[in-house]
Amino acid sequence: MLFTEEHDALRKTVRDVVEKEINPHCDEWEEAGKFPIHDLFGKLGRLGLLGIHKPEAFGGMGLDYSYNLVVAEELGTAHCGGVPLAVGVQTDMCTPALARFGSDELKREFLAPAIAGEMVGCIGVSEVGAGSDVAGMKTTARKDGDDYIINGAKMWITNSPSADFICLLANTSDDKPHKNKSLIMVPMNTPGISFSPHLNKLGMRSSETAQVFFDDVRVPQRNRIGAEGTGFMMQMVQFQEERMWGAANVIKALEHCINATIDYCRERQTFGQPLIDNQSIHFRLAELQTEVEALRALTYQACELHIQGKDVTRLASMAKLKAGRLGREVTDSCLQYWGGMGYMWDNPLSRAFRDVRLVSIGGGADEIMLGIICKLMGILPGKRKD
Ligand SMILES: Cc1cc2nc3c(=O)[nH]c(=O)nc-3n(C[C@H](O)[C@H](O)[C@H](O)COP(=O)(O)OP(=O)(O)OC[C@H]3O[C@@H](n4cnc5c(N)ncnc54)[C@H](O)[C@@H]3O)c2cc1C
Repeated sequence: MLFTEEHDALRKTVRDVVEKEINPHCDEWEEAGKFPIHDLFGKLGRLGLLGIHKPEAFGGMGLDYSYNLVVAEELGTAHCGGVPLAVGVQTDMCTPALARFGSDELKREFLAPAIAGEMVGCIGVSEVGAGSDVAGMKTTARKDGDDYIINGAKMWITNSPSADFICLLANTSDDKPHKNKSLIMVPMNTPGISFSPHLNKLGMRSSETAQVFFDDVRVPQRNRIGAEGTGFMMQMVQFQEERMWGAANVIKALEHCINATIDYCRERQTFGQPLIDNQSIHFRLAELQTEVEALRALTYQACELHIQGKDVTRLASMAKLKAGRLGREVTDSCLQYWGGMGYMWDNPLSRAFRDVRLVSIGGGADEIMLGIICKLMGILPGKRKD
């Protein structure tokens, strides 16, 4: 990956925003279980940071995905995972399919304000009974004249309590599970939508998460993205940017954990010497930094393929898998060297340990990534027909 002066300037812009607009408030927002999302997204939107990779015709910057990767990476310098997650949902989880497959009318209605930071979006795929097994979801959108009537519920939906729209995956026919789904843009103020209270999470405390219920929710059929029955395919495409974003976002967060631990271990003395002078500790930190560089290389390679327009499923799945696994390894090892301090709720390592745990679960668990990689390696056993 060859970065230019433009990439460097963008990095600096994001780092400045994180330092000025996010980091001073992280503790307060983590405590509150939410942050002023419309206010922050408005600021990010005015800087162009919510539409880096989106078409210029709808207010985006029309840049290639390497610039988006830079933004995702630098957002990892935030002192909490919840706020970057909320931004990632907006830029790389609930809008890629709309930007790629949506009608101009839908893009004007939802994409342009999402890029400007005037609307907050969320993505509705998971259900109580269908997280990993997306094909098994039960929410329906039945035709009624020119409309759909939506019934069902979506679980663990990030940003949903404050969102203006949801990009919803729903069953629009009784066809086979991979051919009966459509992505539909649903304004959140439509009658019949309600929410659970905020879900009480292990980490990502500053991001809002809730269950969303749909009770005879009526939306025009023109709110569907692309052709009916292609939603599963479009969601799988949309997942690739989500997974690359997730991997890129972890890189600097993990480096921050390693660097903070180095500083702490230089200061902290045991048995008359700084902790860092123990070979088991400085070797381990060097090994972890090496692993982070390997994650960076893998993520950049996935990004390059994506820019070339090639199918990135294999490398994006590998990068997501590695990010989740390494995130757990780095935060667990580093927390150990902080001893009792690391076990305290407000310790930065403790927060990172809790936040990064999501990477191995959300957007496709590690085992789902392994299944995809196996399939693409041709080593996934065929399904038994009995
Ligand atoms: C904080 C948070 C935010 C989220 N935000 C969103 C959001 O905005 N939108 C959205 O749609 N979803 C969201 N999710 C949901 C998330 O994507 C799902 O939790 C995830 O896909 C896993 O689904 P599940 O929880 O139903 O786990 P299950 O499908 O029940 O799986 C449980 C575990 O079993 C293992 N497993 C599953 N299948 C296999 C298999 N075939 N082989 C081996 N092992 C397997 C995995 O380890 C997995 O973690 C969020 C979740 C959380 C916790």
